[in-house]
Amino acid sequence: MSDVLNFDENCVFCRIIKGDIPSAKVYEDELCYAFRDINPQAPTHILVVPKAHIQSVAEIDGENEALLVGHMFTVIAKIARDEGLEGGYRVISNCGPDAGQTVPHLHFHILGGVKMGERMV
Ligand code: 5GP
Ligand code: ZN
Repeated sequence: MSDVLNFDENCVFCRIIKGDIPSAKVYEDELCYAFRDINPQAPTHILVVPKAHIQSVAEIDGENEALLVGHMFTVIAKIARDEGLEGGYRVISNCGPDAGQTVPHLHFHILGGVKMGERMV
């Protein structure tokens, strides 16, 4: 059980961080939480979320960039190493409706464990 800054009781990821909804935890520290996606799109599919209810990339600013978001990328690299993704991996963050964001709590998808084919970028 962890505290969430700006906890939103209607947010599934806030409730996962708090421990109200079970999740397959991969990593946790004071700033972020990582767990396996319930509907994996690759053999390894992990979500990394901040322990603050920030809606999306659109809410990243000068106040949270270094301590929170910069740290999340260090965690992403560590998780990828720990998961053995030597062959590479993709990091995705859907931002807003046009990108298909379904959970309005900032998250980075780590996808790996397979050679990826068709791609947007
Ligand atoms: P988005 O579509 O917002 O980029 O990604 C949301 C992701 O959260 C989806 O890949 C979806 O499968 C995952 N997800 C939604 N609800 C839950 C849940 O309750 N538990 C877990 N582990 N993943 C979830
Ligand atoms: Zn939230």
